[in-house]
Amino acid sequence: MSTVRTDLRAEITSLLDRHQQLAVSGNAMQGFNKYYPPDYDPEKHSSLNAYRGKHALGDRARKIGEGILIVRFELPFNIWCGTCNNHIGMGVRYNAEKKKVGNYYSTPIYSFRCKCHLCSGWFEIQTDPKNTRYVVVSGARQKEEDWDPEENGGFAVHETDPNQGPVDPLAALEKSTDAQNHMNNVQVPRIEALQNLADHYSSDPYTHSLRVRRRFREQKKIEKAREEADESIKSVYGLPEALALSAEDDETRAKAKQEWEEGRQALEERESAKRRKLGAEVVSVMPRASSSRSSARSGQSSRPSSSSGSKTSDPVSALRAKILGNTAKQSISIGGISRSKPPDPKSARALVRRI
Ligand SMILES: [Zn+2]
Repeated sequence: MSTVRTDLRAEITSLLDRHQQLAVSGNAMQGFNKYYPPDYDPEKHSSLNAYRGKHALGDRARKIGEGILIVRFELPFNIWCGTCNNHIGMGVRYNAEKKKVGNYYSTPIYSFRCKCHLCSGWFEIQTDPKNTRYVVVSGARQKEEDWDPEENGGFAVHETDPNQGPVDPLAALEKSTDAQNHMNNVQVPRIEALQNLADHYSSDPYTHSLRVRRRFREQKKIEKAREEADESIKSVYGLPEALALSAEDDETRAKAKQEWEEGRQALEERESAKRRKLGAEVVSVMPRASSSRSSARSGQSSRPSSSSGSKTSDPVSALRAKILGNTAKQSISIGGISRSKPPDPKSARALVRRI
């Protein structure tokens, strides 16, 4: 047990020693740690890079004194090298010297100087912020493959107004005068009117509120009275609660009267039509009843009914007149009791049969 513990302690000690050595040499821990040498003075040397005399970007900044940074640059189009006349395809990458050469408004213009990988000749490409593209400045020829809208009857994107001609000072003056007149004659009066209206509405809110509330109270009173009247009518006639009653005025009253008269007329027409129908039925029923009675009396069923009708024509017509009179009297009396309930034709027929 004690031997194991001793071995473990020895191992830990050796590991710590190794770690210390690595930290001192600064190889294995690079990227994770920084080694500050004993003669490093943070006040004298502002940073470790300054202490070692190196730029933070390393070798890429070796020409930083000339304003040049080495960057990886990819050809944005196909070119022909001006020195060896070889074709170099789009997308070939170079370690280019990037340098600011000017400004387009506030946008910097950069130049990229590249060394041809086939002949060691130099060519230079610059950014063109105005047209958002790259241009070859020297040492090469760009293969022209862009679709040019101007060639095809269109306009380049950066031309915002292609129709604008040279500026005519008189036309500009006329335009500005028109605008001034429009403002004086139309816009200013309109704004003043709106301002007056706003002042009128917001000058005395108390009075406005008072008026509005008074009007609201009056309307509420009228509404309440109307509701009470409606409720009383509904309770008298047993109408459903949800039924909406129309307002009572001359127009609706006249309309209701007209409808009532029309309904009354229609009812009378219906009743007179029924009366006529009843009369016709009585006429059609009577000969059959008399024939059956006469045949029963004689005891011969094979006897033709037409001959019996002709024989008893006078009593039948007298009976018909009597029945018609009775029916008319009955229908009038029924109508007098209740106009909505017309006399039942079945009961009338039964009456006729019984007679
Ligand atoms: Zn070349």
